[in-house]
Amino acid sequence: MRAACITRHGGLEEIAIRDVDTPRPGHDELLVHMEFAALNHLDYFVTKGWPGLELEMPHVLGSDGSGIVEEVGPGVTSFKAGDSVAINPGLSCGKCEACLAGEQNACKSFTIKGEHQAGTFAEYFTVPESNALALPAGFPPDKSAAAPLVSLTAWRMLATRARVRPGEVVFVHGAGGGVSTAAIQIAKHLGATVITTTSTIEKAEKARKLGADHVIDYRSTPDYATHVFKDLTGKRGVDVVVDSVGARTFATSVRLLRPGGRLVTCGATTGPSTDLDIRQVFWKQLDILGSTMSTQKEFREAMRLVFTGTIDPVIDKVFPLDQARQAAEYLLQAGQFGKVLLRG
Ligand SMILES: [Zn+2]
Repeated sequence: MRAACITRHGGLEEIAIRDVDTPRPGHDELLVHMEFAALNHLDYFVTKGWPGLELEMPHVLGSDGSGIVEEVGPGVTSFKAGDSVAINPGLSCGKCEACLAGEQNACKSFTIKGEHQAGTFAEYFTVPESNALALPAGFPPDKSAAAPLVSLTAWRMLATRARVRPGEVVFVHGAGGGVSTAAIQIAKHLGATVITTTSTIEKAEKARKLGADHVIDYRSTPDYATHVFKDLTGKRGVDVVVDSVGARTFATSVRLLRPGGRLVTCGATTGPSTDLDIRQVFWKQLDILGSTMSTQKEFREAMRLVFTGTIDPVIDKVFPLDQARQAAEYLLQAGQFGKVLLRG
């Protein structure tokens, strides 16, 4: 089958279409004929590699995907060939203490599809039955591929970790990012007022359509933290900041918060290290909350919001599978609003 692979770590030029063996479904696995796959920054980090990441090459990239079940393993009971499925990209052992407690993302062997094992950027991919979800009749497969990773991430960040309550003010950095488009919609669903930032008038309009109450152009308002503090929150600060940007925004996130506020982070796309004024953390009695992926329960909760239209997965552009490298380059330019997809 055709697949977008790397044979060694490096820049995006390492991503190429190759002919690889079609995977076989394991005992409790489905073999899925990919219809759509979605890119994430993780694909870039896996391509680059990191100390300790040892992959069997060629390695098929891709965490998000949807498609039609082609074949099922002998232990599969809930799916059959021909079913349309979405997948939870978070993989866990299913047997350890954390898994049995329903905290799959705390599993010691927790991994993400496409990170340590073959991903979704291929004509076919496998997935454990427990990670598959049947699509409601007529639900579009492109949205089913675009939604999971960012929706489950944003849902856990806002509902479980930050526990956003009605009437609170939530600040989301960079409205166009995949997690941000989901976070804006989820924060509104939870009854919050949402402030977000973008870089163009077109993106600001899209952010408002998602429900953002205040959209700030961070190019024309570089000191947006002061603007939020003085003009938008009456010198109070915001209750919750959603930060997946990392090095470039973390210190600002801390400044934006009211005393007792919560900063929730799930990623660091601009870099992992930053100068943090620790005095601001203790003096303002802030909570800094880490969050990564989700439990199976949160995945299903997030997808229910997707299937019922509360979260509308935002798709920026669709490339054919053969142009996976170009799609990754496009994503890295950070000009997009929403998800970049591959069509199978
Ligand atoms: Zn486990």
